[in-house]
Amino acid sequence: MNFYEDLKNEMEELEENGLLVTIRTLETAQGAWLNVDGKKVLNMCSNNYLDFANNEKLKKGAIEAIEKWGVGPGAVRSIAGTLEIHNKLEKELAEFKGAEDTLVVQSGFNANQAVIPAIMGKEDAILSDELNHASIIDGVRLTKSKKYVWKHKDVASLEEALKKADEEGARRKLVITDGVFSMDGDIAPLDEIAKVSKKYNALVMVDDAHGEGVLGKNGRGIVDHFGLHDDVDIEVGTLSKAFGVVGGFIAGKKVLIKYLKQKARPFLFSSSLSPAETGAALAAVRYLKETGDPVKKLWDNGKYFQEKIKSLGFDIGNTMTPITPVMLYEAKTAKEFSKKLYEQGIFASAIGFPTVPRGKARIRVMISASHSKEDLDFAIEKFEKIGKELKVI
Ligand code: PMP
Repeated sequence: MNFYEDLKNEMEELEENGLLVTIRTLETAQGAWLNVDGKKVLNMCSNNYLDFANNEKLKKGAIEAIEKWGVGPGAVRSIAGTLEIHNKLEKELAEFKGAEDTLVVQSGFNANQAVIPAIMGKEDAILSDELNHASIIDGVRLTKSKKYVWKHKDVASLEEALKKADEEGARRKLVITDGVFSMDGDIAPLDEIAKVSKKYNALVMVDDAHGEGVLGKNGRGIVDHFGLHDDVDIEVGTLSKAFGVVGGFIAGKKVLIKYLKQKARPFLFSSSLSPAETGAALAAVRYLKETGDPVKKLWDNGKYFQEKIKSLGFDIGNTMTPITPVMLYEAKTAKEFSKKLYEQGIFASAIGFPTVPRGKARIRVMISASHSKEDLDFAIEKFEKIGKELKVI
């Protein structure tokens, strides 16, 4: 056995199949235009939906927090790492979300690892949409619960799984869905999911990473969008996308949050958000409480780009949000398309297996409030040129 040769061979195979991820280095802060590996390019692949990542108000929040609290929390939160500013963020976030309380952890990924294994045991059933995010899948893997996967957004398939879980004698049932599916941009039918879950006395959990700051009044998220505050038990969110910072949270009833503070392992065993991140996130929440203008700009930009790109003959799947998957199906075509875009001054990544199913490769275009109409026109012109060159349109 030659371990390092094996690793090299595996990566060569990925490259041959167009599946080797290219990791580029940014030389400027997030925004519409970036310097990437020495080249000026239009940024169409970040989750910086609202252009908050380099926003002055958020930077001020971070700097003030550093001035007051320093740079590190010093410990895990349950020992000596909970700062007043963490509590303040959780309180204001709960008000913003219309939830009783929230718990902030280090990332959206960690939020799923925090909540799912803490509340689900071996007598329980977890029912998960087949396209749920990797962090949900890994959170579920950390439990000994019985797993049921239902067809994407198919409430009848969910109902079948709920019946089966009941027949098999589940103690608790937890239904989990992404709010906005990050690779396709479609929205979960959370109202219908909540209704059928109620019928079977199941808990409902939504991971709203891509709906946070995007859906609902001033970006309050999917629960606000559907008006389901009394019908969703657990909302997982991220501070790393529209909120422009980094971090994750769980929103729910006071008793749930209190329980998670006793049981959630990323909370108990990993240090908390730094003061800078916490201060910046607090500024983001306050900003969105004040105005929904960046959210409106994001949606206007999404509509503008999608109408034009569709009229050119591109297939953008079933997106319902500004996330725009330009479907190319073959991983190699997607890779080639992305490479040509980059040469023409556009940074938009090709996404292939395992992030999306085999044969469903795409360029996922992430529209942002940072883009101007001129930026979007520039992108549309390049997509048209390359689409014709590669005979995709
Ligand atoms: N959940 C979903 C649905 C996501 O799309 C992501 C980010 N890709 C996460 C969780 C993880 O969020 P974070 O980057 O804050 O860890």
